[in-house]
Amino acid sequence: MARLVAATSATTVGASVSVCTMTAQSHGFSTRAIHAGQPADPTTGAVVPPIYATSTYLQDGVGEMRNGYEYSRTKNPTRRALEECLAALENGRHGFAFASGLAAEDTLIRTVCRPGDHIVIPNDAYGGTFRLFDKVATRWGLTYTPAAITDVDSVRAAITENTKIIWVETPTNPLLNIADIAALAQEAHNIGAILVVDNTFASPYLQQPLALGADVVVHSTTKYVGGHSDVVGGAVICDDDALADQLAFHSNSIGAISGPFDSWLTLRGAKTLAVRMERHCDNAERIVEWLTRRDEISAVLYPGLDSHPGHEVAAKQMRRFGGMISFRMRDGEAAAVGVCNHTRLFTLGESLGGVESLIEHPGRMTHASAAGSPLEVPADLVRISVGIEDVEDLLADLDAAFTAKA
Ligand SMILES: *Cc1c(COP(=O)(O)O)cnc(C)c1O
Repeated sequence: MARLVAATSATTVGASVSVCTMTAQSHGFSTRAIHAGQPADPTTGAVVPPIYATSTYLQDGVGEMRNGYEYSRTKNPTRRALEECLAALENGRHGFAFASGLAAEDTLIRTVCRPGDHIVIPNDAYGGTFRLFDKVATRWGLTYTPAAITDVDSVRAAITENTKIIWVETPTNPLLNIADIAALAQEAHNIGAILVVDNTFASPYLQQPLALGADVVVHSTTKYVGGHSDVVGGAVICDDDALADQLAFHSNSIGAISGPFDSWLTLRGAKTLAVRMERHCDNAERIVEWLTRRDEISAVLYPGLDSHPGHEVAAKQMRRFGGMISFRMRDGEAAAVGVCNHTRLFTLGESLGGVESLIEHPGRMTHASAAGSPLEVPADLVRISVGIEDVEDLLADLDAAFTAKA
């Protein structure tokens, strides 16, 4: 009987928090994406980590766990494989996978903060992140101040004596603003706070915040990491062992974990992250070039443009500039809505980061919940998530939509 039970990889045995062993020093990005946390199954030789659809695990004697697995809220081998892979991709020692990006954020702030603590957030944060701070966290006694995270002085001015976290997204959603991660890490550390970077838009392939001094990286893996618009998930990655212990405790106590099926899908997506990101960037660069020549447009927001105010910082901290583009229509909201309603290949929808191109109107869609707040976005703004289709087809689709919208 005992021989039929799979042993697990050495890194998952014993400790409640395991440490990632494949690093940037030992292996390249794509090698880590394909192999980190994913040794061949020791029992069958299966090349892909199985979906361990099990809630509980045999104990060898009362209280004697086999290979450290007891109950799947606490730990599950499929989730563990994803967590080790994500840690390796961000060059962090510890990874945690959650049911969604917001579940990851919620668990993180409950781990780090207490009532009375204060968080500095971007003044154009992802709408759901803003809602979490504004409508949920404040009820539990947290306070926050939105700041222009492109400007270190504005962030410094927002700090209070209770600031525990400086929270940044870079590039931001949907305005594609750029924050200087190294400079803000310094600001946070000067006051004994931590810097959290939501790295969803860049993905670990384009930007590695921990190496720039950030303390924690957060992801909505729903986006580029999963990459196929077929699963919702989130992650937290950090280096610090004490924080990792606390995260493991809170992840288990709150229970907002990624299930084995979702973990498996996300891990499958992660394997191709590097090749997908290169193609997202290639296509986005071509589309940006096309958009900048159109009369209907008053501004193209893309950190790869040397006219972008964050271009220099982005060039310093990103490998390339990503697949997200926003632009403003000269004729205002009606024109913006018109373009969104007239594309055919670009699917009208929320979310981003999948292989298929998406288009949306942030003011009425993703960022509707920020209306009337300091995070309200311009009504003439259109956001596109450039997929990995043939770029000529994407350009033809945009061209047709620009013509048809009037
Ligand atoms: C989507 C998103 C989130 C929230 O993640 P979910 O997986 O939808 O919960 C957080 N931050 C950014 C930048 C996002 O785009």
